[in-house]
Amino acid sequence: MSMSRKDFLRKTGKGLLAASAVAATSGCSEDKPAVRSFSSGGFKVDYKTKRLTLKHAWTIARNTSTYKDNVFVRLEKDGIVGLGEAAHNVRYGETLESTFATIEKAKPLFEQGSPFHFVDLSEQLQKICEGQTAAKAALDMALMDWVGKALGIPYYQLLGLDPRKAPQTTFSIGIDTPEVIRQKVKEAEPYPLLKIKLGKDNDEEIMQAVRAETDKTLRVDANEGWKTKEECLRKIEWLAKNGVDVVEQPMPADMLKEAAWVRERSPIPVLADEAVKRASDIPKLAEAFDGINIKIDKSGGVQEALRMIWMARSLDMKIMLGCMISSSLSITAAAQLSPLVDFPDLDGNLLISDDPFQGVEVRDGWLILPDRPGLGCIGEF
Ligand code: MG
Repeated sequence: MSMSRKDFLRKTGKGLLAASAVAATSGCSEDKPAVRSFSSGGFKVDYKTKRLTLKHAWTIARNTSTYKDNVFVRLEKDGIVGLGEAAHNVRYGETLESTFATIEKAKPLFEQGSPFHFVDLSEQLQKICEGQTAAKAALDMALMDWVGKALGIPYYQLLGLDPRKAPQTTFSIGIDTPEVIRQKVKEAEPYPLLKIKLGKDNDEEIMQAVRAETDKTLRVDANEGWKTKEECLRKIEWLAKNGVDVVEQPMPADMLKEAAWVRERSPIPVLADEAVKRASDIPKLAEAFDGINIKIDKSGGVQEALRMIWMARSLDMKIMLGCMISSSLSITAAAQLSPLVDFPDLDGNLLISDDPFQGVEVRDGWLILPDRPGLGCIGEF
C-alpha cells in the first residue's frame, strides 16, 4: 500500500525525533562545542533608500546620471544581521517605487520563512518579484549574508570556491568629451584592464583619447548603441585592431539573427548583456553570442547568478560578471562568485565618492575577497 508524504512523516515523526535526540546526546562530549541553535521564527525586515554620489557624471549610450538612489535591505534574526542592496534599472522597468513595493510584498515570506531553506525561499521569492530583479537581488543577498554569518564562514566558502582564483577586474570609463576621457584614463592608472563605454556618435573620438593615454588591454561595451549588423562588424574589426579583446552588447537586445551573423565574422568574442537576465534566457543566446554578462541586480541575486554560471558553462559560453552603480555591499556579493568567471567587471563601488561599505578590495586589478563571514562587508546604511 502506498503512503503519502504526509502519512509517512506522521508515522515516522516520533521515531525520527527519538533518533535525533540520541544522536544529539551521544555526539556531544564535554570538550566539543555545542552546535549553535537558532529560533524558529523568521526575520525582522527593514529597508531604506540611500543616495550614492558618482565621482564623474556617468554617461552610457542610454543615459547620464550624477547620482544613484539605491535601496538597502536589512534582515535580522537571533542577533545576526544580513544586508542587501538593490540598484533598480529603468532599462528593465524598475523604479525606486517598484523596488519598495516588491520588498514590501516579499516581507511576509521573510518574516515567516526559515533562512536555512534559502533555496526554497528564493524559489518562492521569484514568484513574488515578477521581473523586479533588483529588489529580489537585495533580499537574496541579505539572506545569504545572514546564512554565512550564522555559519561563521564567508559565502564563497559556503559555495566551495577558492577566492585566490578570482581574475582581474576591469575598470569602466563612461562616455565623455575627449578631455574628460583622458583625465578618467589617467585616474584609472591603478587598474590594468579598462572597459570603455561606446555606442553614441563619438566612438572614434573616445578611442583616440583613450589610446593617447594608455596601451592597456581594453574591453568595449556599446550598450545596444550600434543599429545595423554591418556597422557593428565594421566597428568590432576596427576595435580588435586597437587592442580590444571583448565587445559587449553591440546591438539592441532583440537583434539575435543579426548578432549571430556578427558573431560568425567577429575576430573577438561578443557578449550579451541587455539580452540576458536569468538562466532561462541563456540557451536561446548560445548561437548569437560567445558569452554573457551576469549581474546580480539583473538575475535577482547571487543564487540565480550561480545557476546562470552553470548554465552558461554547460553551453560552453564565456562569462563576464558585471554590476550596476552600487556600494561595496552589492559589489562584494557579486565578487563572491568571481572565481568562477572569465571577465569580472566589478567597479560600481569605485565610481562613487561616498561608499558606505567596505568589502572586496582591488589590488593591481585583482579582486581581494574579505575573509569575514557572510558577504564580509563592514558598514551600515
Ligand atoms: Mg553592459
